[in-house]
Amino acid sequence: MSALRMTGAVYKSIRAHGEETYPHECCGALLGCYEAGEWAVKDAVRAGNTRTDSAHNRYHIAPVELVKIEREARSRGLDIAGFYHSHPDHPAQWSETDFAEAHWIGCAYVITEVAQGRAAVTNSFLLAGTTEEDKRFEKQTIEING
Ligand SMILES: [Zn+2]
Repeated sequence: MSALRMTGAVYKSIRAHGEETYPHECCGALLGCYEAGEWAVKDAVRAGNTRTDSAHNRYHIAPVELVKIEREARSRGLDIAGFYHSHPDHPAQWSETDFAEAHWIGCAYVITEVAQGRAAVTNSFLLAGTTEEDKRFEKQTIEING
């Protein structure tokens, strides 16, 4: 199983974001470096949830916002390592929608279950494969360091 490394500050920040937006979903991007075949996440960038029609069960980062996040990452010598969002009162497992909307192959998709307003389980899934046709989610461990 692959691992997603992140600092304790990032881990806390993405879980806190889910608690703040409860009962709605939160979402954001993970910035990091690719080291020895694995992502080391250095920072998490919060994004506005643009899915105002049903913000409790879907998430989306506006393309314009994503371009801004990517540009900022590059200027700091980082890349987009993945994305995170919360599942209010739902398990930290990816949904069909999550899978359909995941296009960044090689990146990590982190999901936090927020139960009754409290962050519970946080899981990470690597989007493996080479194309849209053979992409798949593979569960990975989250290693907190620093
Ligand atoms: Zn989801």
